[in-house]
Amino acid sequence: MTSSGFRPMTLKKEEVMTYQSFNPATGKLLKKFEELTDKQLETKFAAAATCFETWRHKTYAERAVIVAKAAAIMAAKADEFAHTMTLEMGKRINEARGEVEFSARILAYYAKNAERFLAPVKLHPTDGEAHMESSPIGVIFGVEPWNFPYYQLARVAGPHLMAGNVLMVKHAGCVPQCAIAFEKLWIEAGAPAGLYTNLLISHDQSDAVVDDPRIKGVALTGSVAAGRSIAARAGQNLKVSSMELGGSDAFIVLDDADLEHTVKWAVWGRMYNTGQTCCAAKRFIVVEKLADKFLEKFKAALAALKPGDPLDEKTTLGPLSTESALVDLLKQVDGAISKGAKVVMGGKRIDRPGSYMEPTILTNIEPGNPAFRDEFFGPVALFFRVKDEDEAIALANDSDFGLGGSVFTKDIARGKRVASRVETGMMFINNISWSDAELPFGGIKNSGYGRELGDMGIQEFVNKKLVRTLVAEAPV
Ligand code: NAP
Repeated sequence: MTSSGFRPMTLKKEEVMTYQSFNPATGKLLKKFEELTDKQLETKFAAAATCFETWRHKTYAERAVIVAKAAAIMAAKADEFAHTMTLEMGKRINEARGEVEFSARILAYYAKNAERFLAPVKLHPTDGEAHMESSPIGVIFGVEPWNFPYYQLARVAGPHLMAGNVLMVKHAGCVPQCAIAFEKLWIEAGAPAGLYTNLLISHDQSDAVVDDPRIKGVALTGSVAAGRSIAARAGQNLKVSSMELGGSDAFIVLDDADLEHTVKWAVWGRMYNTGQTCCAAKRFIVVEKLADKFLEKFKAALAALKPGDPLDEKTTLGPLSTESALVDLLKQVDGAISKGAKVVMGGKRIDRPGSYMEPTILTNIEPGNPAFRDEFFGPVALFFRVKDEDEAIALANDSDFGLGGSVFTKDIARGKRVASRVETGMMFINNISWSDAELPFGGIKNSGYGRELGDMGIQEFVNKKLVRTLVAEAPV
């Protein structure tokens, strides 16, 4: 028993099921689900493959009817979808509702724009005429994480279904109810059988899915470890893949930043979704001139957050997604401290039922400390003090990750220069507005490859075919 009176469940090995829904605000088991048998998996596979043969020939307008309907249903039932998410992974209800509404917008965006994005492109060879056309490639396998249980699914479903592909998705073990709700959405929207299939499957079955010749592409969002495993498997099978992995984004504060504005973004950037966001601000790199003032204000703002029921609109600090996520993060913080990090605030479990952690700031993190390179997936900010802009950029780039990052300065031209020098897939100046349907999302280095969303997101799993017409005799 912990001091909070919350006892994490200890299950015998045979009792551990992959797909279990716990409420992390209370620790109560909500529901558990059996994995598919291989036979059931095959039935779903066959339906997906059959569906592709008709779906691929539908016009964009015909596909858009289904995808736009799914968007409309999601928007209309935002409260219901959000409630399931909050119960299952602890996202605060207003954030959960925002995620559902955003997911609906992503689906609607691709319903509206897919045909334009995939229209034939005329080329200009010296001889003859040529164009590129885009055609669907088949069944795509998605592997998705729990931290944005619907947005992650919408990010693959919107573009790839509109492109004429069909989807089979393995969602994370802790959000089966969200996974099932999203599959039901497609049935309600009138999708043909097999268009979107949720798979409650093991990692071994997932490997078999990647190996199956009916799968033509693999899209994963998750940890670096999962990315390495699935990308290697896809590579062995010579299948195209996209990898959206972890990050340790720098939040750079230059000497001319507007401190009030900057601290608000710092709090949001680190604490949104209880810090469980791939592109959250994780490393706060502040130039000497503002370092003390920034730290004082940041600390005060984090200390003001109040833990509570994530279903209550007034709660400002939710739980972590699962008990194991909390236990792992606490271990990581202890490990960082044992290697010399200093605790500015927090660092402990909150003494109350549920999987809650104190907002935490660590400093004195030297390059030899594993914390210097690792991702902290929760309410833990790493604070670094630097001499100037050049040192800030060098530190930001001294990372195995390259997802996003941000820079705060009153001088936008200077912000743009810094943004160009930081080695990541995305940079934000005076904000961290991470994601919009219209804008590509993704990283470099260990943060993965490929892009989701925007025009680029729909180009990942289509055949770009060259067609050339030339009036010419064959060379002798
Ligand atoms: P995770 O453990 O990698 O899980 C993500 C998904 O991969 C889950 O569905 C998981 O299934 C599955 N998975 C893991 N290992 C697998 C394997 N060997 N074979 C088949 N499937 C496997 O990631 P997480 O720790 O839950 O999620 C957080 C991570 O995702 C963070 O690193 C975060 O930065 C990253 N993320 C990245 C983005 C982005 O766009 N770049 C967005 C969100 C999150 P099980 O649950 O069944 O293990």
